[in-house]
Amino acid sequence: MKYRFLWFVLALACLAGCAAPPVETQAPTTVPTTVAETTLPPETTLPPETTVPETTPPPITVSPLAVEDFLLPLEEFSWERQFDPEFVMIHFTSAVVAHRDDPFNMEYIRDTFITYDISIHYIIQRDGTVRCYIPEDRVAWHAGAGEFLNDPKYTNHMNQYAIGIELVAIGSQEDMSLYLTSREYQALDDSWKGFTEEQYQALSALVEDLCQRYEIPRDEAHVIGHQAYSPSKNDPGELFDWSRILPPSEG
Ligand SMILES: [Zn+2]
Repeated sequence: MKYRFLWFVLALACLAGCAAPPVETQAPTTVPTTVAETTLPPETTLPPETTVPETTPPPITVSPLAVEDFLLPLEEFSWERQFDPEFVMIHFTSAVVAHRDDPFNMEYIRDTFITYDISIHYIIQRDGTVRCYIPEDRVAWHAGAGEFLNDPKYTNHMNQYAIGIELVAIGSQEDMSLYLTSREYQALDDSWKGFTEEQYQALSALVEDLCQRYEIPRDEAHVIGHQAYSPSKNDPGELFDWSRILPPSEG
């Protein structure tokens, strides 16, 4: 709780800092109108500066393919993004450990995230519904410790560079062996294991959208599984069919 409070205070402090743009507010006072009017012809009294003011639209932070559903408290479960996303990272999740009979209940899954300080940009339900938990312009907490491409900038910092997508699913018995005994696994409904056609279709469209907007190559070096970064992880696991979201690799 102490850390949560600390993050909250830090987030508030950051917001307060961002809310006061000291440089921009000084700019107008350095262009005294009296000087300009007396020394320059009238045409220049319509300075281009006045037409330039920043009216750029805010960045698109939620895919149009998703339902905005910020079920997680943003300030406590994300950071401001400092770097453009370079990767899309795929995971799977469920609440099967605590709720063996209702593992895909979204409230239970949200509770799991909150309990373990996890957050994610998108979560795709069994019926293909895409929910945005954390907008793309914030850093979600899904990658954890790991390393990638032997590049130290990614080591333990992949959250800063990756948009995270969770698929609501239960993996193979091997994937789940950390959490369930084989008897527990075999007692589960077989239709819960693996990924649905609707999920693959929704995921493929979302990956395409993300890769286009952030100019991320849609290949196996940039659309990666959690396990490629954290070998101790087992998602999206051996039931996930990469050919459904990536074009066949050449050569
Ligand atoms: Zn994961």
